[in-house]
Amino acid sequence: MMYWSIGYDERWNRDIGFDVPGCCDHPDCNKDINRGMDHVCGGEPYGGESGCGLYFCDQHREAKVTAASEEAIPLCSQCTAGKEPFTPTPDTEEWVNYKQTSNYWAGWRTYHENKASS
Ligand SMILES: [Zn+2]
Ligand SMILES: [Zn+2]
Repeated sequence: MMYWSIGYDERWNRDIGFDVPGCCDHPDCNKDINRGMDHVCGGEPYGGESGCGLYFCDQHREAKVTAASEEAIPLCSQCTAGKEPFTPTPDTEEWVNYKQTSNYWAGWRTYHENKASS
């Protein structure tokens, strides 16, 4: 498994990685987590073959053995039940503010502004 701290999830259109703060994607939960490997449904970025790729706290992710894998994979309750994924929670204010102010994201902002105006 590659080291990753910040990436982009094109399925859910959001930033992911353990440097990205987030909220548990379970609709009844607002626990602060991060979007890293310790929280992703499916046990790998984007969810792998079995997971939805959303992010959950320890309470809302449970290791399950699935048809696609002989090893137990941490999954959310929707994936365990074979249902449609939950609606992802929006980015935290902390993250949105950080992206708007940090130098790290200056290039990213320019890129998106150029894209929007072209
Ligand atoms: Zn899931
Ligand atoms: Zn939760």
